[in-house]
Amino acid sequence: MRNLVQCALVSLLFVASSSVRAEDNFAAWFESFKASASDRELHGFLYAMPKGGDLHQHLSGSIFSEWWWQLALQESEHGETFYTRVKIGHCHPVGDAANRGMNLMFETIAAYRYSTLSDCEQAKFRPLSELNTSEQMAWMNSIRLDHDSEGRDEFFERHWQRLGDLTANPWIRAEALALNVKAFAAEGLVYLEPQLTLMGYRDGKGRPIPPSEVAKVIRARLAEPDVQSTGVSLRFQQAILRFLPGAEADLAEAYRIVAAEPEWVGVNMVGREDDDRGYPLRFLKTFRALRERYSGIRLSIHAGEVDEPNYHVRDTLLLGAERIGHGLNLIDDPATLIDMRSGSFMIEINLISNLLLEYVADYREHPFPEYLRLGVPVSLSTDDRGMWDSTMTDEYFVAVREFDLHWHEIRLLLENSLQFSFMPAHEKQRHLEALTERLVDFERQWIGTTNESGWPVIESPKRGFVCRKYQLCQID
Ligand SMILES: [Zn+2]
Repeated sequence: MRNLVQCALVSLLFVASSSVRAEDNFAAWFESFKASASDRELHGFLYAMPKGGDLHQHLSGSIFSEWWWQLALQESEHGETFYTRVKIGHCHPVGDAANRGMNLMFETIAAYRYSTLSDCEQAKFRPLSELNTSEQMAWMNSIRLDHDSEGRDEFFERHWQRLGDLTANPWIRAEALALNVKAFAAEGLVYLEPQLTLMGYRDGKGRPIPPSEVAKVIRARLAEPDVQSTGVSLRFQQAILRFLPGAEADLAEAYRIVAAEPEWVGVNMVGREDDDRGYPLRFLKTFRALRERYSGIRLSIHAGEVDEPNYHVRDTLLLGAERIGHGLNLIDDPATLIDMRSGSFMIEINLISNLLLEYVADYREHPFPEYLRLGVPVSLSTDDRGMWDSTMTDEYFVAVREFDLHWHEIRLLLENSLQFSFMPAHEKQRHLEALTERLVDFERQWIGTTNESGWPVIESPKRGFVCRKYQLCQID
């Protein structure tokens, strides 16, 4: 008996050590690949690479501008017409209830809202379907962060406001989710955990739609064969805007929603952190009161997405967060940083977001490699990739190219993107085991390739961000 146990142990160790050896061999191969591959070859490799999850993405910020366009017009086919502002300037008297106050080019509103405007205000809007080609291009460009002159203010104060009533339409949101699932599946992801709110929707007449009805619309779309066939698992977070006067009540509603809807598993708090009205400790009492009533609500909360040092990450852990969104200024809080080494709380890193929103001027300033190499759990995520015009492949590309990641570091990021998800344990285990198998297969396919015969050419889809920053779209 003892011999049998020893035998089993020896063979287990043999299997384990041979897979470790294979990974080490591949790590050595990857160093030689990086040394001679072009940026386009590296991008192709990372596109083909099996991936895990995306744990930090806002669904309404993950919709490419051409998707918004197409989805808005599709709704017109279903009887919903959207109007967009094509002229700015105030109507008199300014402040009239019938006048809209935003005065922002390409602000898009639903027909019910349009019908409440004065004649003078209506004259500043036109149905989306009547825009000419150059206006259509300008409309799409107005919700992309793709110019140096744009930055944090354009994103926080204008992009969302322009989207206007498009974000309050549950059918657009459901269709956008389906497009995202298919696009991420094509990149090799198997799990998504979007921040997908069930609050704030309206029907064609402007009447509020209750969260449970919105959940049904989302659920029905996810049950369609085109989404099901991707095999991607999904869970959702209910986010609230943290600096609003009624944020505490919204937080309570978020807990109620997550307790009621099985696919919604976590709560998040969003909104620019340089707006002090949403500081973390404002919510301590509310979170504690909610924990008296509810159990099992998972928390991932934005913290440390600011320029100046403060204790937002520490305070957010005190709120009960298991994951921190961004965590950029954790680097300036040594005590919390030390606590998080080899810990059980993860930082969701959003490299492209942080650059475009100017939290770092250059990747040399980004604390990601320091966290990774200190042993703070981290994973890569896309945040609002619709507005960055980027993909998950791009996040890995930036990480490898800017910080010279080794293969075992990439594998750790991939594993963390599942390990720290809010999936049930059995589902997580299944995905983790499958990821290991997929990576072993992937390594086997690539390890025989050499530069002498030319690295395999993988034509990866490339969007605006990598075209602009890394010139990946130029034909050699
Ligand atoms: Zn975010």
